[in-house]
Amino acid sequence: MRSHLLNDLTTEGYRRSVTEGVERVATQLAAAEGPFTGVTVDALTARLDRVDLDRPLGEITAALDELEEVYLRDAVYFHHPRYLAHLNCPVVIPALVGEAVLSAVNSSLDTWDQSAGGTLIERRIVDWTTERIGFGPGADGVFTSGGSQSNLQALLLAREEALPGGADPASLARLRTFASEASHFSVRKSAKLLGLSPDAVVTIPVDSDHRLHTVALAHELERCTRDGLVPMAVVATAGTTDFGSIDPLPEIAELCARHGTWLHVDAAYGCGLLVSPRRRDLLSGVERADSVTVDFHKSFFQPVSSSAVLVRDGATLRHATYHADYLNPRRARQEGIPNQVDKSLQTTRRFDALKLWLTLRTMGADGIGALFDEVCDLAWQGWRLLAGDPRFEVVVEPRLSTLVFRYLPPVVTDPAEIDRANRAARSALFASGDAVVAGTKVLGRHYLKFTLLNPETTVDDIAAVLDLIAAHAEQYLGESLDRAS
Ligand SMILES: *Cc1c(COP(=O)(O)O)cnc(C)c1O
Repeated sequence: MRSHLLNDLTTEGYRRSVTEGVERVATQLAAAEGPFTGVTVDALTARLDRVDLDRPLGEITAALDELEEVYLRDAVYFHHPRYLAHLNCPVVIPALVGEAVLSAVNSSLDTWDQSAGGTLIERRIVDWTTERIGFGPGADGVFTSGGSQSNLQALLLAREEALPGGADPASLARLRTFASEASHFSVRKSAKLLGLSPDAVVTIPVDSDHRLHTVALAHELERCTRDGLVPMAVVATAGTTDFGSIDPLPEIAELCARHGTWLHVDAAYGCGLLVSPRRRDLLSGVERADSVTVDFHKSFFQPVSSSAVLVRDGATLRHATYHADYLNPRRARQEGIPNQVDKSLQTTRRFDALKLWLTLRTMGADGIGALFDEVCDLAWQGWRLLAGDPRFEVVVEPRLSTLVFRYLPPVVTDPAEIDRANRAARSALFASGDAVVAGTKVLGRHYLKFTLLNPETTVDDIAAVLDLIAAHAEQYLGESLDRAS
């Protein structure tokens, strides 16, 4: 069994085994005809059920053969140009090399004595990101597992800053956080985890472009203060999950300054703009935030997970600081030893920053940004296609790279039947494996969504997928008529 341990004696086996794993993926990618095979839950479950975890296969080749059966052959492949569904990007190769390196060396970024150079690399990437945001000296941040955790940590800091006297139950109950109806659900989940009252998150309506309505926000902030409550934070979204809309950051920053309220900008999706050669101005005002969430695994073409929370004032990260004698004693801090655990909600933590480091050192920031610009351009092309196609209704002009639309049958007018036709088209498409698209609701009605994050997707792909959607929707409606007659 010792032959499976990675060490100085097993480097040949390590090379061979990892290469074999890489080979399987490469072969699969080269052969994949669509983003998905359409495998059903039942079929995959049956295959998985045959695996006896208490009877090992003894060698990696056999384990990989089995893995092809239960996973690789029928996985959902984000690299495929017709995967148009969620906020998942194809990944860049330098980042994959980073992934292979970081898991093999297995540094843990909690303390210097488990990471050394890893800690310094993470700090440099954090500093680089805060400079891109436009924060001044004194800014800081830390990598997290994802946007949800970044939002949670930002709101934890906001809560602590709002309650200098301590988080007693009466004070906690008075805290309010403001976010638009298009904000991410992790804001509400965070409020719950942070012990805030069930109505702590005040939902602000959006304008016709799905951006937070600042007049409504101003009104709610005033009401909050008038009612003797405490406006703990405003969450502005830079790139809403559904529409890619960007809340008006300068106006929101102004309101936050007036009310002494923490401004958190959730740029989980929109962070790609930080490196965009042509669209950086869309993020103007982000430099006035107190904290910012970025998901490099959404718009920087990085593998999951790669996310960070950045703060204007690094001192606020002390709210996440706890000391353990065995790990990060107070003395270490006084001696200037950089222990990132002092800034993090996690303890043992992946060296995800290495992936972005190798990406920047290989491709450069402009290289990533140019790819993100390409998918934003593609969204405009797709929008023109949809706007000129009588079979479809498209909701708003794209800000980033999403398109929300639905199939509108020429004769049917029953809104529930139109909903069903769109849902049926999406399911049929998924089952066919030809393409994967997402769905969402707008004003209570069912819509379809493209999240375009693959620069290899062409406008012809979009046109072809729209034809498939229309065909599936029409088939559903035809069968529906047959059923009724
Ligand atoms: C995806 C997303 C999140 C959550 O990020 P995870 O990395 O999935 O945890 C938060 N906010 C917005 C706007 C997002 O799009």
